[in-house]
Amino acid sequence: MSDLPLWRSILDTSEGPALAASIRLVGLDVDGVLTDGGIYLGDAGGSRVELKRYEIQDGLGIKMLQKAGILVAIITGRVSESVALRGRELGVDDLVQDEHARKLPALRSIAERRGIGMHEIAFIGDDLPDVGVLREVGLAVVVDNASRDAIESAHYRLERKGGDGAIREFAEVLLRARGEWEPLTEWYVRSRSEVVA
Ligand SMILES: [Mg+2]
Repeated sequence: MSDLPLWRSILDTSEGPALAASIRLVGLDVDGVLTDGGIYLGDAGGSRVELKRYEIQDGLGIKMLQKAGILVAIITGRVSESVALRGRELGVDDLVQDEHARKLPALRSIAERRGIGMHEIAFIGDDLPDVGVLREVGLAVVVDNASRDAIESAHYRLERKGGDGAIREFAEVLLRARGEWEPLTEWYVRSRSEVVA
């Protein structure tokens, strides 16, 4: 197995807080990161239907990142209505589906438009289509079951697999390193405990 350090290990380093504080945008791959990489393909009344399974804990992790003022972008090399629906549901800041998997130009364009440097971006990927991006961003992270090419291009690896809470793990450690996880969870619990008039 890879000797890539675990993402969680930044909590025990003196550089962790500064690294975490420098991140302004988190980019996410979909297949194999937000999902386990499986795709359900079928036919419904003559129409092609593609379904994916998302992990609900990842959704809350994404919400917490956004609540901390971090932008979240989904960048995938596969076009599907499922991703458009999930992106809208999560309220992500940018969503790019490029059938030619040109993820690096897509991310560069988002960064330029938003005035964010590539060194201020974290990207979570799992496979060869992510390598170009992983090599360029300030914080390159892969899921536990990433391919060898992706692992060799990353700085850290997650303990969770794609579709199994990997994004939640990433978000929680990033926000803990920034000292923001506890206040955010308190805010969340309080906000869900109030009676709406
Ligand atoms: Mg992937």
